[in-house]
Amino acid sequence: MEKNYDIAIIGGGPAGLSAAVTASIRNKKVVIFDANGFSPRLRKAHMVSNYLGLPNISGQDLMDKFLEHAMSFEPTIVKDKVIYASQDENTFTLGTANGFYNARSIILAIGASSSEIIPGEKEFIGRGVSYCATCDGHFFKGKTVAAIVTVPSALEEVDFLAEICEKVVLMPRFKLEGPLRHSNIEIV
Ligand SMILES: Cc1cc2nc3c(=O)[nH]c(=O)nc-3n(C[C@H](O)[C@H](O)[C@H](O)COP(=O)(O)OP(=O)(O)OC[C@H]3O[C@@H](n4cnc5c(N)ncnc54)[C@H](O)[C@@H]3O)c2cc1C
Repeated sequence: MEKNYDIAIIGGGPAGLSAAVTASIRNKKVVIFDANGFSPRLRKAHMVSNYLGLPNISGQDLMDKFLEHAMSFEPTIVKDKVIYASQDENTFTLGTANGFYNARSIILAIGASSSEIIPGEKEFIGRGVSYCATCDGHFFKGKTVAAIVTVPSALEEVDFLAEICEKVVLMPRFKLEGPLRHSNIEIV
């Protein structure tokens, strides 16, 4: 396999595949590394409704569409985890358990992981447990939801939920300061 590329993309989720399409259109030689079945995260989404032109599609089907689009440009795919990176003057070297690859640029598209903190959380991801109020809040319109909030900036998402849900049971993991904006938020 050719081991020299213009761009190495680490991560084959939506961000990495989108970068691969854009790079390929610009005639760059691209390699994508993904160790884990191309976004297990998005594949867990029961329903995705915020992509224009693709209403009510499952995360699994949406990810397959993204993959099909990206693959049509024939990037090199390496189904291995990148475990090593170093930089020379003009080149990056990336290592997996099975070999080394060179690229002039690297795009890190490795996603984010959430730490699971409550029993049952993992089992119900995508079936009642969500991490994005503006993505999934509308599935719970008119219902009572619980929001575990770890940083003050996430209170904006709580306000969003309060506007569409009957009640929000708020469980902050920090000291709340100032009044809440909605009367249907109950603090536990
Ligand atoms: C239950 C649920 C529902 C969701 N619903 C929606 C929704 O309705 N609408 C919406 O817009 N978003 C939704 N999301 C969020 C969406 O899934 C993420 O925003 C999206 O997947 C982020 O894309 P990404 O490419 O940045 O990262 P990811 O999708 O996490 O992809 C990163 C990839 O990088 C790979 N990787 C990481 N490290 C390495 C390494 N060292 N070497 C090789 N590969 C590596 C991982 O295996 C993974 O495949 C939902 C998420 C969840 C969990």
